[in-house]
Amino acid sequence: MSFKEFDILIVGAGIVGLATARALKIAFPKSEIGVLEKENEIAYHQTGHNSGVIHSGIYYAPGSQKAEFCLTGSKLLKDYCVSKNIEIDACGKLIIATDASEEKSLNNLMERGKSNGIKGLQFLSKNQIQDLEPYATGSKGIYCPTTTIVDYKVVSQYFANDCVDLGVSIIKNSEIHSIVYSDNKTLHLETLKDTFSTKNIVNCAGLNSDRIAKMMGLDYGVKIIPFRGEYFELSENARKFVKGLIYPVPDPRFPFLGVHFTKRIDGSVEAGPNAVLSFSREGYSRFSIDLIDTFETMKFLGFWKMARKNVRTAVSEQMRSLIKPIFLNSLRKLVPEISSKDLINRRAGVRAQAVDGNGKILQDFYLIKTKNSVHVLNAPSPAATSSMAIANHIVKTVKESFVL
Ligand SMILES: Cc1cc2nc3c(=O)[nH]c(=O)nc-3n(C[C@H](O)[C@H](O)[C@H](O)COP(=O)(O)OP(=O)(O)OC[C@H]3O[C@@H](n4cnc5c(N)ncnc54)[C@H](O)[C@@H]3O)c2cc1C
Repeated sequence: MSFKEFDILIVGAGIVGLATARALKIAFPKSEIGVLEKENEIAYHQTGHNSGVIHSGIYYAPGSQKAEFCLTGSKLLKDYCVSKNIEIDACGKLIIATDASEEKSLNNLMERGKSNGIKGLQFLSKNQIQDLEPYATGSKGIYCPTTTIVDYKVVSQYFANDCVDLGVSIIKNSEIHSIVYSDNKTLHLETLKDTFSTKNIVNCAGLNSDRIAKMMGLDYGVKIIPFRGEYFELSENARKFVKGLIYPVPDPRFPFLGVHFTKRIDGSVEAGPNAVLSFSREGYSRFSIDLIDTFETMKFLGFWKMARKNVRTAVSEQMRSLIKPIFLNSLRKLVPEISSKDLINRRAGVRAQAVDGNGKILQDFYLIKTKNSVHVLNAPSPAATSSMAIANHIVKTVKESFVL
């Protein structure tokens, strides 16, 4: 099949790729813009396997892109959902400290939230925690009223509909396996059956974003290390234990939030996710192994450096994944009445977490530009929340750098 030559091709129809395609077409209505997606549906990977939270931005280091994009992105996203009648629920979030050392971290979190300009944050006493969430327990809490829930697959479908209405081509079943230059200006993206030509690329390939950059001969010294996040659903009887979102105080060394309770927009409640090393970038079962993915991880020095620094955490996360009572114990620190029979229907998502050659887990988003490409090389949580702000940032970059 032959295709027209594109001005910009976006690789990946997750929420970041779709938000970006939409924003680019609005900014450059005359340009030919397309999205290539390897699956036969949109939002299949991270976007379709997440917790569905529109984060407030309390967690992220002041001045970071995560803080900036989460704050602006959450507002843009909520306004978009309202304008399209997409169901959201501003149920708010409770973050709970259970001992003195966690209270210290909770106080730091409050300072962070205030520096980031999060509105309405409030400390809660033990009794106030129980007024809000009668089954939760903790010595001190933070209530964050702006945290909201949504279904990101639904949002992505709306972004995709906008794209199609605006004239963006979304081409599914198109896995890019190589990228070649024919002259200094044209890039050819090859799939098994077709070749797509374009002047510029925006790489939003999530779990494969490092590989797409590498296909263009670019190596920024970071590799995607996949971290699976496993959830249980709470049985219908146990839903009464959780009214909204109940989180522990996160370990500031990691970009993961600790196992928590999440009310979903369909009324179900989930418990999780943990964060375990995955032996497959798209492995949704505990037993998924992909030899190529595993080999790539193992030959990356940064992985071994990261592993050496975090052996204890890695082992305890693996144990929590393998032994259900350990998972349950983490949950019972927040809601003691939960029992094993309440945890049903295990499922998982895989996070695309970039790690550098020194073994540092990148805490912030990481976007790189060249004269004809933008690469989103680290966009784990809260990138779904931030998707419209990331898209606007990419539009700005394209205006500065690309020739269309
Ligand atoms: C367990 C879990 C919970 C999370 N919870 C939240 C949350 O509550 N709130 C929040 O804001 N964020 C959350 N996140 C993070 C959020 O889901 C991601 O940051 C976001 O979905 C990233 O979107 P993306 O478009 O970059 O990636 P993806 O959704 O992974 O999309 C990338 C796309 O690229 C395609 N692709 C890959 N390689 C190729 C190729 N070679 N050729 C063509 N196409 C390709 C893939 O098929 C995929 O569709 C969570 C993530 C996980 C895993």
